[in-house]
Amino acid sequence: MFDSDAFAGHESIHHFYDEASGLKAIIAIHSTALGPGAGGCRMWNYDNAQAAMRDALRLSEGMSYKNAVADLPLGGAKAVIWGDSKTQKTPELFRALGRFIESLDGAYWSAEDVGVSPDDMRHAREETRYVAGLDDGVAASGDPSPVTALGVYRGMKAAAQRVLGVDSLADVHVALQGVGHVGGYLAQHLAKEGARLTITDINQPVLEQVAQQTGAKIVSPDEIYDTDAQIFSPNALGAVINDQTLERLSCKLIAGSANNQLATVDIGEKLVKQGVAYAPDFVINAGGIINVASEISGTYSHDWVMGKVDRLVETLVTILDESAAQKTPSNVVAIDLARRRMTAK
Ligand code: NAD
Repeated sequence: MFDSDAFAGHESIHHFYDEASGLKAIIAIHSTALGPGAGGCRMWNYDNAQAAMRDALRLSEGMSYKNAVADLPLGGAKAVIWGDSKTQKTPELFRALGRFIESLDGAYWSAEDVGVSPDDMRHAREETRYVAGLDDGVAASGDPSPVTALGVYRGMKAAAQRVLGVDSLADVHVALQGVGHVGGYLAQHLAKEGARLTITDINQPVLEQVAQQTGAKIVSPDEIYDTDAQIFSPNALGAVINDQTLERLSCKLIAGSANNQLATVDIGEKLVKQGVAYAPDFVINAGGIINVASEISGTYSHDWVMGKVDRLVETLVTILDESAAQKTPSNVVAIDLARRRMTAK
């Protein structure tokens, strides 16, 4: 998504290998200009070391932008573990990760991400204090998903006001791709407001449960792109907005929690041409890291978190207005804003 195939821009990149546990990990610290680098730890069975490195670089750069736009005193960083999360996870592997995080002396704060659970990170925290997002411990912030969903819901509503000219999401048709942690909470907010929902997921029990709770219509994972919804909300995978899906989407607004929704940066330009407004993913989905940031500060404050979510919505509206006024893709406007904030300090 970003121009991060090169090392340029990253402050430091750390490789770790622990023979006893088999841990192979990379921690990429993109920027500490605004504070210690913060971003979750992902475990993925990469094809090769280069693919693991590319992911670490791309994700840590993305975290710098997300944290800067959310106006958090945090920089951007990310850890990736190269391995199969279904067969290779052990407590010792995560303890080794914890020792490596500790060796960076606070330059990197970790949390869970794809393939890694809070229980895994609990083992890492036995070796380091630089782990957040657990439900116990000093200033624990717990599951970030409800706050992420709240930010997406409120951001979607503010964007819909601009794009669709509506003050409420009642009767607005929203297509939700993925109703897991974030998508599930989001569906509840939308249903409460009277939105018309079409949902999909590959997890059938979860899908049926959310449909029952919200009155949503279920479609297959492929059909979601052809739904005649006014808003398309990706809450499952990255790269779902691409040349193939663009042809099928008839929505006026894209607003969801998934990271890296645009397959490539130039898709932003194509969305402008197609008349589709896009709420940049790293702007609208920052509720979770806002929640974690409060924990990192040492004293968890619900009021502080809610204040930052208000600010997230204002920033999103500013970005969408600037994008519309200048006919510049919103993803480009958002990255420019992040870079300005990172160099202003
Ligand atoms: P999750 O795993 O709980 O939910 C994702 C859902 O997507 C699952 O129910 C899964 O079955 C479904 N899914 C997977 N492939 C699918 C497909 N092809 N079609 C339809 N559904 C599919 O994850 P989550 O925590 O809800 O996060 C959702 C997205 O938001 C992820 O991309 C995540 O990186 C991003 N995100 C999450 C948070 C957070 O606070 N949890 C914060 C920022 C960004």
